[in-house]
Amino acid sequence: MYDAIVVGLGPAGSTAARDLARAGLNVLGIDKENFPRYKSCGGCISTKIERILDFDISSAIEERVKGATYTYKSGRMMDIMSDRPVGYNVMRDTFDTLLLSKAKEAGAEIIEGVRAVKAVDNGPSVKVTLADGRDFEARVLVGADGSSGFVGRELFGLNPKEAAVSITVEAVLPKGARGYSEKLFIDFGSVPYGYGWIFPKENYLSVGIAGDACKVGGRIKDYFNDFVNTHEALKGLDLSQRMGWTVPIYYDGAAPSVKGRVIVIGDTGHLVDPFLGEGIYYAIRTAKAAASVIIDNIKGARELGAYQQWLEKEIHPEFKAAGKLSDLVYNHPRLWYSILEKDPDIMLRFYDVIRGEDDCASFHEWVLGKVKSKPWKILRRWVESRLLPS
Ligand SMILES: Cc1cc2nc3c(=O)[nH]c(=O)nc-3n(C[C@H](O)[C@H](O)[C@H](O)COP(=O)(O)OP(=O)(O)OC[C@H]3O[C@@H](n4cnc5c(N)ncnc54)[C@H](O)[C@@H]3O)c2cc1C
Repeated sequence: MYDAIVVGLGPAGSTAARDLARAGLNVLGIDKENFPRYKSCGGCISTKIERILDFDISSAIEERVKGATYTYKSGRMMDIMSDRPVGYNVMRDTFDTLLLSKAKEAGAEIIEGVRAVKAVDNGPSVKVTLADGRDFEARVLVGADGSSGFVGRELFGLNPKEAAVSITVEAVLPKGARGYSEKLFIDFGSVPYGYGWIFPKENYLSVGIAGDACKVGGRIKDYFNDFVNTHEALKGLDLSQRMGWTVPIYYDGAAPSVKGRVIVIGDTGHLVDPFLGEGIYYAIRTAKAAASVIIDNIKGARELGAYQQWLEKEIHPEFKAAGKLSDLVYNHPRLWYSILEKDPDIMLRFYDVIRGEDDCASFHEWVLGKVKSKPWKILRRWVESRLLPS
């Protein structure tokens, strides 16, 4: 009998396994892949990650990002750069392997390369069955098996269709070539309710496009082709190894993240920021909060439901504000882009949100305030009809 079993060892699972093992708990972590394993991802982690990690990740960082080149439908190019880093670009195989090594160092027992296929909550304990027929039991199960896993879908009834769909490719750079130094490339308007990106790494450009699954309606490949075919920096690069993946964004504040003896963290619980699709930071942050509650629970000091309460206080309000910002930006990308062109400082303030120095709710209120005080008549009319209380 383990104290905890963690299914899935991405950033969420590895972090939870590490924190639980460091507290002296008897932990088993399981992942269907052998590490290093590929994960389709832009791999840009906001600098606020430093506020929650107690070890150095610089060995995995390939580019320190201070801003971006923005375009609208691949035109109207504009650079908005800060003097301080906003994010760190990593390749997920290296970054995730680093996090997993920390869990192993802390004493977590790890099984790689075997899929968990079933979990049954028997009340005081949870039984997990692996594809090779082995069964394991624990006092708590942590679901960290990501957007393709079964725990969120089968045990919590979370809706996998509430997601952004994406296509990505890692475009290999010719030897000695650099991508965009210190900056990302972000395109608005190239896909419904989403954006296109190019994130530079040492040897690759991570290229992708993601948009709301319902609004994209099966046309993600067409949007991707349009995006990459119009981009100068991608000319001559091999873009053939494309991957499709979903981003399980936050969609329902009422959705549970604790049921009986099971807790979900990271992508499994749809705990991804709905504006940027940023999930790595939230995977790690929710893992740390869940681990702290589980440690107390095993000692008899707290109910597992304390994790749900923490989410409702600390995370859901942030995601709700990010959802409102998404409506403003992605429903009207052309308008949003014109606003940025007139007032690029808006994006500089948003960089503070990404850094964790400001919050999304205040930023959203501030943007609305700016909109109301300027004579952008169309936007004003739209905002008053759609967002302001009548
Ligand atoms: C195209 C795209 C671009 C993105 N870009 C960014 C970005 O730039 N920045 C950012 O912060 N976020 C980004 N995200 C989101 C980010 O990738 C996720 O939020 C993050 O990986 C969540 O971590 P996790 O540990 O919850 O899940 P994952 O990283 O998905 O890890 C889940 C793990 O569970 C394992 N697993 C699955 N099923 C089973 C099973 N049955 N048994 C055992 N193991 C199992 C998998 O092998 C995997 O290792 C992007 C996502 C996509 C799809």
